[in-house]
Amino acid sequence: MIIQTLKSLSPVLGILFLSVYGYQQNLESPISIVNTLSYLPAILALLVASLSLHFNRSAIFFFTLLLMVVNLFLNFNWLPTKLHYGLLSFFSPLLLLCFTITPERSLLSFRSTPIYLLILFITVFSIWSVYEKPDWVSLYLLKDWLPSRYFDWTHLSQTVIFNAVFVLFSLLLINLIKPSPFIAVSLGILAVLLIVLHLKNDAYGLNIFISAALLMCLYAVVQESWRMAYLDELTDLPGRRALREKFQSISGLYTVAMLDVDHFKKFNDTYGHDTGDAVLRIIAIKMKKVSGGGFPYRYGGEEFTVVFPGKSVKDSEIHLEILRKTIADMPFVVNRQDRRNKSNKVKRKKEKIVQVTVSIGVADSKSKKVKVDAWDIMKQADTALYKAKKNGRNQLAS
Ligand code: GH3
Ligand code: MG
Ligand code: MG
Repeated sequence: MIIQTLKSLSPVLGILFLSVYGYQQNLESPISIVNTLSYLPAILALLVASLSLHFNRSAIFFFTLLLMVVNLFLNFNWLPTKLHYGLLSFFSPLLLLCFTITPERSLLSFRSTPIYLLILFITVFSIWSVYEKPDWVSLYLLKDWLPSRYFDWTHLSQTVIFNAVFVLFSLLLINLIKPSPFIAVSLGILAVLLIVLHLKNDAYGLNIFISAALLMCLYAVVQESWRMAYLDELTDLPGRRALREKFQSISGLYTVAMLDVDHFKKFNDTYGHDTGDAVLRIIAIKMKKVSGGGFPYRYGGEEFTVVFPGKSVKDSEIHLEILRKTIADMPFVVNRQDRRNKSNKVKRKKEKIVQVTVSIGVADSKSKKVKVDAWDIMKQADTALYKAKKNGRNQLAS
């Protein structure tokens, strides 16, 4: 889990470290470079916003919007008082958290209304606070909760810092429960927001760090579109496009295995399509753990492929047998949900444990020298699969 978190954070951390390094260099850079850099955030923002709209990534679009608003206020010095500053520094991390946890939906859909209402509320509240200057807002926003000597390293108020720590822990907690590339990016943006708010009127730093945050957003959009293209949505396994690329690059000795769930049509008819989907997801989890260096793919429907580079059928069989047995021995609990009938009475269906089996066909490229078409090997594996089905299913054939 920690390794996975670090893996998803590594590109974001890389961009962050590079931007800190760039910031230090920038202080000694000629003015022409610094002037050119001032256009970078706007160019990147346009690029990221249009890509996120194109791919319907509403979270990334809102991240970009937030970064550009903060950039605008800091760049043009639109924060004349501590209260102005406190409001922006308090609400921007909170908005970031809200954008991260809100499910992805189309920007123009009715279901996006809560986000727009929240933005409207924060805007109206901030404008009202700035004009009315209510004592309680200043008191809570700018108050020293702890001795101020602990915080003399920054001009940010203690409320702002505690609020940022709250957002940080919330993001880390969400990442533990449900890892997502967007959370890594939000963590990076949180760091950037704190850095630019801390740096205050430093135009150099602002351009570099806002650009860095926008690069993180760009990375997230590109990674998401890669996921959409290569990973199957139901099982999260690489799909047919990824298999085609594997087949293009593979050569020498390798084995291709075709797995097909037995009597799956009947399973769907008996327990429902949703239960069938859940079964496919669990089978995919087991397939991801296949031993022997096998690469699993969802070929389509209830059919899966495993490719073992550098292995013959004889070498791969043991790993496929382990996989077949693991799936066959796994108890699937079905019909757990309560179903309401027409008279709205709860009809409790009995919990039932069922077994699901798979049949496997394997073939290898046989030679290390002659380049053979991997699709032909796959056809041979498919013929072997047919044999396994004919011989009674829940078995391997070559
Ligand atoms: P056999 O043992 O010969 O493979 O029998 P089978 O019923 O599994 O074979 P067949 O190819 O006739 O049926 C495949 C079924 O798999 C048809 C369809 O209902 C089901 N199926 C395919 N894709 C999905 C999916 O994504 N989700 C669910 N729930 N079912 C699927
Ligand atoms: Mg089939
Ligand atoms: Mg089948």
